[in-house]
Amino acid sequence: MTDLNQTALQKCADMTLDQMEIDTLIVGAGQAGVAMSEHLSKLGVPHLVLERNRIAEGWRTGRWDSLVANGPAWHDRFPGMEFDDLSPDAFASKDRVAAYFEAYANKFKAPIRTGVEVKRVVRNSDRPGFTVETSQGVIKANRVVSATGPFQRPVIPPIAPKDETLMQIHSAHYRNPQQLPEGAVLVVGAGSSGVQIADELRRAGKQVYLSVGAHDRPPRAYRNRDFCWWLGVLGEWDAEAAQPGKEHVTIAVSGARGGHTVDFRRLASEGITLVGLTKAFSDGKVSFQQDLADNLARGDENYLSLLDAADAYIARNGLDLPEEPEARRVFPDSECITNPLRELDLAEAGVTSVIWATGYSVDFSWLQVNAFDANGKPQHQRGVSSEPGVYFVGLPWLSRRGSTFIWGVWHDAKHIADHIATQRKYAEYRDASQRAADEHAPVEKLSLMGVS
Ligand SMILES: Cc1cc2nc3c(=O)[nH]c(=O)nc-3n(C[C@H](O)[C@H](O)[C@H](O)COP(=O)(O)OP(=O)(O)OC[C@H]3O[C@@H](n4cnc5c(N)ncnc54)[C@H](O)[C@@H]3O)c2cc1C
Repeated sequence: MTDLNQTALQKCADMTLDQMEIDTLIVGAGQAGVAMSEHLSKLGVPHLVLERNRIAEGWRTGRWDSLVANGPAWHDRFPGMEFDDLSPDAFASKDRVAAYFEAYANKFKAPIRTGVEVKRVVRNSDRPGFTVETSQGVIKANRVVSATGPFQRPVIPPIAPKDETLMQIHSAHYRNPQQLPEGAVLVVGAGSSGVQIADELRRAGKQVYLSVGAHDRPPRAYRNRDFCWWLGVLGEWDAEAAQPGKEHVTIAVSGARGGHTVDFRRLASEGITLVGLTKAFSDGKVSFQQDLADNLARGDENYLSLLDAADAYIARNGLDLPEEPEARRVFPDSECITNPLRELDLAEAGVTSVIWATGYSVDFSWLQVNAFDANGKPQHQRGVSSEPGVYFVGLPWLSRRGSTFIWGVWHDAKHIADHIATQRKYAEYRDASQRAADEHAPVEKLSLMGVS
């Protein structure tokens, strides 16, 4: 970046917000907002990032205490900076990830304002661009990039009982085992969050019931390569859409305790009671679908298909990676799998808390533009929305499977920044007569970066 651009970016970050005019406004300074800012900075696009909390707030306060990244440090990072204090194969703690993004933003002096909430964005009726109402004044922006995250509103399904004797929290609000009352716990959802929380609670001495739905469960590592590597070389991170019927299939992986493969049978043998999908709560009882065996079988299928694809890749490319036949060994089924519970009397079983690891939805109530379909879903192509000048970054499957992940969002942000820079070039174009008029007009110094 030139000194001129850097000065101008700093100017954006230092100005008072009210009445500011900016070319591109990025809303949110998680990894998506930081990546957008890096790419726009490289392209010299004047911009400002507004973040209602702190940089990477999700990693600071939206995760449980012991969480580490699901991918190793060599993979779960941006290309421009390594985790200099970690082995490439280690799994960074959530606080280390937050510190990483803060340091990354500082590295290129990203023009980020923290503690400013964007409350409303509307298209201007009398001039191009958008009016943005923030908690610190009204600003004008030619373009708005929503980087407000894929996981904004914790979702607890309507089947949750209205039972005040039970402590019920979403996984977003789980912190550690000490937070829960004495007694057994039902964890609903066995994606990466549910399975890791259930395991942590069991290790803390709790009786745990884990409700397991459809899931993929790649091996943590196979033949000396982490699954992140396998998904990369096999083109899985780049898949453009979930396979039909697999839209709601969650992925169960864990970097906890140095990283290990999630094996539900092993978890059952260690004492977790597995149950099928949670169906309903009524009269102090919870019922479960009889789909546990099917869900485990489909998870196994996914696991084995990755081993097969990995073996084929190794053979095709003549790689010298050690064989690992024990990876195909199937753990024996425990009683809860062969004879699954249909129903559980919560009081009898001593269940005093329920953790809903049931995912998240988005909230775009602040973005009042024509960029959504009839169901309120963002309408876009690789993040370029149907409302000219509005962009989304960081959404699930924005361009591919990797889009919500640390490494993937960086590439999506690059594409969007390129689109913005190209649009600016079109806007700057002057035809022959305009250029001739320019030559005869007194030179008027334009504001450095489109900020006035
Ligand atoms: C439990 C969990 C573990 C994960 N582990 C990994 C992992 O190991 N590796 C990986 O690659 N991915 C992981 N992910 C997925 C993904 O990396 C994270 O969800 C990540 O936080 C997404 O980054 P983001 O910038 O898109 O959104 P967020 O981190 O959610 O950032 C959005 C930001 O926007 C701000 N914001 C929202 N609305 C407004 C507004 N109106 N005005 C101003 N600011 C606003 C928020 O305060 C927030 O800081 C994990 C996700 C979860 C839930």
